[in-house]
Amino acid sequence: MAAQVQRMSRLMVKTLRDDPADAEVLSHKLLVRGGFVRRTAAGVWSWLPLGKKVLANVERIVREEMDAIGAQEVLLPALLPKEPYEATGRWEEYGAELFRLNDRKGGDYLLGPTHEEIFTLLVKDQCTSYKDLPVILYQIQTKYRDEARPRAGILRGREFTMKDSYSFDTADEGLAESYALHRAAYQRIFERLGLDYRICAATAGAMGGSKSEEFLAPAAAGEDTFADCPACDYAANTEAVSFELKPVDGSAVPAVEELDTPDTPTIETLAAYMQVPASATLKNLLVKVDGEIIGIGVPGDREVDMDKVEAHFAPAAVEMVGAEDFEERPDLVKGYVGPQGLEKVTFLADPRIAPGTAWITGANKDGVHAKNVVAGRDFEVDAYVDVVVVQEGDPCPNCGTGLKLDRAIEIGHIFQLGRKYADAFQLDVLGQNGKPVRVTMGSYGVGVSRAVAALAEQHADDKGLVWPKEVAPADVHVVAAGKAAQTELALSVSEQLAEAGVRVLVDDRAGVSPGVKFTDAELLGVPTILVAGRRTAEGVVELKDRRTGEREELPVAEAIAKIV
Ligand code: ATP
Ligand code: MG
Ligand code: MG
Ligand code: MG
Repeated sequence: MAAQVQRMSRLMVKTLRDDPADAEVLSHKLLVRGGFVRRTAAGVWSWLPLGKKVLANVERIVREEMDAIGAQEVLLPALLPKEPYEATGRWEEYGAELFRLNDRKGGDYLLGPTHEEIFTLLVKDQCTSYKDLPVILYQIQTKYRDEARPRAGILRGREFTMKDSYSFDTADEGLAESYALHRAAYQRIFERLGLDYRICAATAGAMGGSKSEEFLAPAAAGEDTFADCPACDYAANTEAVSFELKPVDGSAVPAVEELDTPDTPTIETLAAYMQVPASATLKNLLVKVDGEIIGIGVPGDREVDMDKVEAHFAPAAVEMVGAEDFEERPDLVKGYVGPQGLEKVTFLADPRIAPGTAWITGANKDGVHAKNVVAGRDFEVDAYVDVVVVQEGDPCPNCGTGLKLDRAIEIGHIFQLGRKYADAFQLDVLGQNGKPVRVTMGSYGVGVSRAVAALAEQHADDKGLVWPKEVAPADVHVVAAGKAAQTELALSVSEQLAEAGVRVLVDDRAGVSPGVKFTDAELLGVPTILVAGRRTAEGVVELKDRRTGEREELPVAEAIAKIV
């Protein structure tokens, strides 16, 4: 099938020599300089013609692989009523990250950050019998999250494109299967995209549920840290490096309500109580004094009474994390205290903090104690202790080999939600025996727009972008480097390539020097560059591999045959 020729002379693309002043990460710099995207507001981006092509290629790959596992594409609204989110508690739980708005009658709405509630209601309406299940539904849609720090270009947008899917099964084995299907589809998606990634054990976070894994793409610009075992296949987000949390007597982990600190609740005794290995650092530690929560590694809902704290903890083990840390120590504290109080705060691994140290904080960024913060609503209390491997070289929980720590970008996340949402909406279907069966769910996300940035992070050199073939905005970038004769040759080669189904971008701009055209071609990162120039003999063109830099001169017919 004939492909189209995109002519640079008519294409809306304005390349920039210099990095945008506000750009911190490579993908941000290169995607703006290459004219792929343009900032519209903080964390809100416009996709220009070349960028839209790349984005559409990512979407196509995601769509093909979702269709291949039998998932059905739908499109639900982004503008959503409040009630379903109130039913699950997420209207409040989501905190300041949720875009809330009113209609003209004063009704409450939100812009969907993720769609578990709405999909659960859809299936409740459409599926009534076990025969209607299992079902997997997906959409590729715009999501909204009022991120505290929308830095890093399209890596972290406040408006972004996500592929989200939801599975509905009657039995746990069915959920395990839907999860496995997604896991395999994600592997194919990220392989086809050309992303280097690791599948990492993860925590469920705001989604709730049990098993969850993240697909992390190693990159310096990443905001996640993962522990990777060089000897076995163990890999985990450091937020989730999991050691079994259970009291030493082997009984079940008590629920928060039941957790009363032991008689002398020093960090050491708590650590022993939890069977936390010596190599680990406690974080998100819930601290109760006299039955009152005084801290949870996040701002407390009341003033921290230091006398009480010190009466219960060995003072040396208590480090107050000051308000300024939220702003000034991104290496230590991830999160933010905003005008509405707490937004999720996570303590990052910090090798300078001794193992066994707990952090207790009670202040917001202004140094005063956060008002109106309610345990359970504004921060999670269901997991009262998290364990983080803090140092490179700590033993792998599987095999004991020293772990490596690396930065990475979260490009996908899969969850076994279980019955949390089905319970909230009484999602039952009639079972085989005629009795209602509660449905079990999974939810699965791919950062579609973020993947474009992750690709730019992983596939670039000092000259610009180097797109993998399947996502590149074109297959060949033809450069007309000379006078009218070369432009004519470039256009004719382009037409011949397009007729053979090759996607061509041709730089036919008049009055632009060959040097500028070469620089732009390197910046835009199309995999193959074909130069119709004056230096080569008549009827001969130069082919250049953008990634390796290898060049060869070939007669036109041979060059075309080689590309096609
Ligand atoms: P992060 O930890 O980076 O904030 P998340 O864990 O909040 O991401 P999920 O709720 O798991 O994100 O959403 C599924 C996927 O959507 C993520 O794996 C990521 O690829 C993508 N995503 C999430 N937030 C953003 C964002 N602000 N901009 C672009 N993509 C995002
Ligand atoms: Mg997030
Ligand atoms: Mg995450
Ligand atoms: Mg996630």
